[in-house]
Amino acid sequence: AALREALAAPAARSAHRVYAVGHAHIDSAWLWPVRETVRKCARTFSNVLDLMDQDPDLVFACSSAQQYAWMKEFYPELFARIKERVAEGRFVPVGGMWVESDTNMPGGEALARQFVEGKRFFLDEFGVEPREVWLPDSFGYTAALPQIARAAGADAFLTQKLSWNEVNAFPHHTFTWEGIDGSRLFAHFPPVDTYNSTLSAAELAHTERNFMDKGRANTSLVPFGYGDGGGGPTREMMAAARRAASLEGSPTVRVAAPAEFFAAARAESGTPPVWSGELYMEGHRGTYTSQARTKRGNRTSERLLHEAELWAATAAVRTGAAYPEQALRRSWHTVLLQQFHDILPGSSIGWVHDQAEEEYRKVGERLEPLIDAAVRAATGPGEAGGEGSGAGLWANAAPFAIDGVPAHGVGPRRASDERVTLEETPEGLRVANGALVVEFDADGLVRSLRDLATGRETVPPGCRGGLLQVFGDTPRRFDAWDVDVEYRRFGEDLTKADTVEVVESDGARFVLRTARAFGASSVVQTFTVRAGEAALDIETSVDWHEKQRLLKLAFPVDVHTASARSEIQFGHVERPTHTNTSWDVARFETPAHRWVHVADAGQGVGVANDATYGHDISRHERPGGGTYSLVRQSLLRAPLFPDPEADQGTHVFRTSVVLGGVDAALRAGYRLNLPLRPAGGGPVEPLVRCDAPSVVVETVKLAEDGSGDVVVRLYEALGAPAEARLHTSFAAAPAVETDLLERPAAEPHAVTASADGTTTLALRPFQLVTLRLPRAA
Ligand SMILES: [Zn+2]
Repeated sequence: AALREALAAPAARSAHRVYAVGHAHIDSAWLWPVRETVRKCARTFSNVLDLMDQDPDLVFACSSAQQYAWMKEFYPELFARIKERVAEGRFVPVGGMWVESDTNMPGGEALARQFVEGKRFFLDEFGVEPREVWLPDSFGYTAALPQIARAAGADAFLTQKLSWNEVNAFPHHTFTWEGIDGSRLFAHFPPVDTYNSTLSAAELAHTERNFMDKGRANTSLVPFGYGDGGGGPTREMMAAARRAASLEGSPTVRVAAPAEFFAAARAESGTPPVWSGELYMEGHRGTYTSQARTKRGNRTSERLLHEAELWAATAAVRTGAAYPEQALRRSWHTVLLQQFHDILPGSSIGWVHDQAEEEYRKVGERLEPLIDAAVRAATGPGEAGGEGSGAGLWANAAPFAIDGVPAHGVGPRRASDERVTLEETPEGLRVANGALVVEFDADGLVRSLRDLATGRETVPPGCRGGLLQVFGDTPRRFDAWDVDVEYRRFGEDLTKADTVEVVESDGARFVLRTARAFGASSVVQTFTVRAGEAALDIETSVDWHEKQRLLKLAFPVDVHTASARSEIQFGHVERPTHTNTSWDVARFETPAHRWVHVADAGQGVGVANDATYGHDISRHERPGGGTYSLVRQSLLRAPLFPDPEADQGTHVFRTSVVLGGVDAALRAGYRLNLPLRPAGGGPVEPLVRCDAPSVVVETVKLAEDGSGDVVVRLYEALGAPAEARLHTSFAAAPAVETDLLERPAAEPHAVTASADGTTTLALRPFQLVTLRLPRAA
């Protein structure tokens, strides 16, 4: 009664407006296994549905098609009730992705499929299509996301995770986010700085105080409800929302769906400021490296899915073989689930990672025979030759020709005309292969790597390449998540070798093997030089028994530059290597996909990997003047929490150091990740062939709708406008430009002509295009 007067005083007309959205952030696995998440979801959703029966104002937003799919499978009655509330617009599917995935590490096609599979589920089951990307908790956001989200029909983005930044406060809460290709999303970071608000007075006050875009905008979203099994929104929270609907001194609160918030925020924002490039999270930098086996499982499964779709589509078109749609979709769902933001990043308990690795093994078991069968169907009968046998054919799933085997085709391998020569010198060994000269010192480290075409030296004076370094790695908090920059003070170079031996030198290949022991661990490295290739391949086999240490593989590169390029989904980002601003300093460890590259005006060096995501690329004073670039791959960590056994045991990493431009790094990345597969029978002509070297055909598959149409996804990879002709080797009607869900594009821009088996395309830098090629009868 004493409060009646105060509670009756209305909010000022200019009060900050809060759209409160009922929510429950349920991690798909973390300190519990996936099977417990299924039960957590059932309990929380029951709670929510019950509260909805009692309170007609409750609106609940729920992301992740996977969580709905679990309800459909294991709790059909609950799912039926959810379906009713979805139809009313109160249980609101948001985000449109299969799970709230990590976005740094999933490959381009996989990140696209997060949306394709998520949206398909929401459309098939509920007839609704979320238009916003909902990733409140993922650890930083790739600069490829705006284009992928737009291509999936989304136009808005929400997170709050950058409020965790250790150093720099992000300057906006409502802004426009622009990706590498120029695609833009309307973006909002809830200034309440949590996705588990209780709508307390303190949180509402913080929302208003913290909002960075006052003057231009006055509206924010607050997700409220207990997450991770806590049950979601409560009666008390709904009462708090009512109390603050219009209350003097407080933001006004209205319980609503995210779409209502985005419409209102967009309407008041005019032309919001633009943030270009990635949304790097200053923290959790260890998640690019922790749990290396889970990461390898992801990379391998992405490869197998790529191969399976390519060869199954080829077999279907060439021979009428059945397309294994169900097996592919099941495998995608498994891989997409493991990309959840605590699984692929390596921040879950051991149980979760053991299970992820088991799931990846099953994906391999399902897809390997399927790939073999498809290749066999396409080539016709005949035994595969394989490595070492002079005969036989090879299937090349990469988008570039490898050793004369055509991209996406099957054919014979062509040997190089060059020879590898070996010479012993007073300093060690000198190996030449027609493209480069590499010199190893007595410890098996690279003391010189010279490009024969330009004569330029790649290793800076006094430096050694292929150097392993171990560091103390004891982050102040969040063991599996964080790498603190202080690790750099506790490093040790593993220079001394126990053995260095030449194991192969036959003119076609040179192989040097080194062995080193350190701590409780040991490592065997092989350095391979192939005839005619401007590349040094390194295989690093580690028997790892360290705790809280970080293992890096280092390549000092004699290149004076202020920036480096790292591959991301469908393109690459450029990041500074200097430390001018606090933003640059904070980016001391960064994610990359298959390659990174540094270059000056005259020379470039790429470093490709087969399952490593964590890198650091820095700039150092060079003996003799100037600066050089230090490129390092982060191979292994050994955090103690939440999995004290993380990363113990054996691991094999493949690295390729390649001389040349970004195009060379791009090719090296594909070559390393899509090795040739032995095949028998006869050659197979690729279904499609693209004549522009900068345009990469990433995916060839059959359409999701079962029509038998061929779908091709391609992108411009170097960051320059490109003209390309795509030739089709089967009877096809003119190409239709589509969105990621293979629906005709609202605004097709890329196709300029399509007839008689040739489609002409004009691509913007980094443009992603999906084409549907209907099969002619
Ligand atoms: Zn989370």
